[in-house]
Amino acid sequence: MCPISMTCSAAPVLRQHSGIAAEWLPRVCSNQYDPSFRAAACKRGALVGMAMTEKQGGSDVRANVTRAEPISVGEYAIDGHKWFCSAPMSDAFLVLAQAPRGLACFLLPRWKPDGTVNALQIQRLKHKLGNRSNASSEVEFYGAWAQIIGEEGRGVATIMEMVQHTRLDCTLAAAALMRRAVVEAHHHATYRHAFGRPLVEQPLMRNVLADLAVESEAATVLAMRLARAFDEADGAFVRLAVAVAKYWVTKRTAAHVAEALECLGGNGFVEESVVPRLYREAPLNSIWEGAGNVIALDVLRAVGKEPECLEHVLAEIRQPADPRIERFLDGIRRDLSETGARRFAERLALALQASLLIRFSPSSISDAFCASRLAGDWGRAFGTLPNGAADAVLAAF
Ligand SMILES: Cc1cc2nc3c(=O)[nH]c(=O)nc-3n(C[C@H](O)[C@H](O)[C@H](O)COP(=O)(O)OP(=O)(O)OC[C@H]3O[C@@H](n4cnc5c(N)ncnc54)[C@H](O)[C@@H]3O)c2cc1C
Repeated sequence: MCPISMTCSAAPVLRQHSGIAAEWLPRVCSNQYDPSFRAAACKRGALVGMAMTEKQGGSDVRANVTRAEPISVGEYAIDGHKWFCSAPMSDAFLVLAQAPRGLACFLLPRWKPDGTVNALQIQRLKHKLGNRSNASSEVEFYGAWAQIIGEEGRGVATIMEMVQHTRLDCTLAAAALMRRAVVEAHHHATYRHAFGRPLVEQPLMRNVLADLAVESEAATVLAMRLARAFDEADGAFVRLAVAVAKYWVTKRTAAHVAEALECLGGNGFVEESVVPRLYREAPLNSIWEGAGNVIALDVLRAVGKEPECLEHVLAEIRQPADPRIERFLDGIRRDLSETGARRFAERLALALQASLLIRFSPSSISDAFCASRLAGDWGRAFGTLPNGAADAVLAAF
């Protein structure tokens, strides 16, 4: 989904420049994939990628050294190297580069307006752990033609519109991976017999499956609530909740998928089952568009710069007046420090998930979530829900 996500997320940035929006949005919004290597104007649909990361600057994009020299009003020549550029078959890229007055955001198309190929060269494709059906590349620009979007010096602020949307997609994708993993595990356990009974009837396997289902449900309800906030343009909620959700849901995915894989036994480790592919994909959403620490620090930044975001999210969390949530939130502000940023983001995410589950999920699931994730009646591995919880959860799954 990476190319679709980037293309969709580029739209709000393209909209910031009326000329570019008029030319590119109809192509970007097309439902058709046109793989031909031609100028975007001749194609049935266009994809947009992004090139921010350099060798010395991934999280810290202000360290970017790619240069942008003005050639005429709004037009620049870009020179430099990008260490990560996914979906390199895209028809255009949002690129960060240093203009005379600071870092700026550019739209760099594969073809120039004069009908010639732009000076972008793909150096090599990354040999990745997973996510292999989506190419990621290293690229170089040799005086490549590009148009500026926003102002010089405002590059990060401009491209952040795209990043916020791709962070939503990271959260949705991670929730979807968890859902697929637990469905595969549950399916296998339903039909596989061991010791005279289907696995799904064995009490300990039921606890594992139920615990995985609870995590998946919590991820889904949080991702969906976040998506609604984007649809409603609820800026204050989005600003904080997107970082909180991206941090926690993507962080849980690798552990979740690994446990689901184990439910299939040896077959889970073999490529014929789909699970190894989910497993290799699982860590990715936690890395790109801000790795865990960077996102946790962004949560701090949001609370520091726009304290109303926290009040907004806390008001949402408290919509069901529930003593379990109040107890869990007690003293949460003590972790508002750089060292405590992960603890703070995690607690806010768990409280928000609990609140959403209480309102929108069967009570068997929200009760199991609150007992395990909020009250601590839980172990350090999946499959440690309190007695009696698993049957109720699986009945609702
Ligand atoms: C499959 C894949 C596809 C990608 N596609 C693209 C793409 O299309 N375009 C693009 O521009 N980039 C892309 N990236 C790059 C990705 O966005 C970066 O890898 C990511 O932002 C991290 O940057 P980095 O690799 O330089 O790591 P670093 O910035 O070196 O970070 C390394 C670690 O240090 C931590 N860290 C950083 N700063 C701090 C701090 N202040 N305090 C504490 N910890 C910190 C990070 O959380 C991370 O865990 C892709 C990456 C992957 C894996």
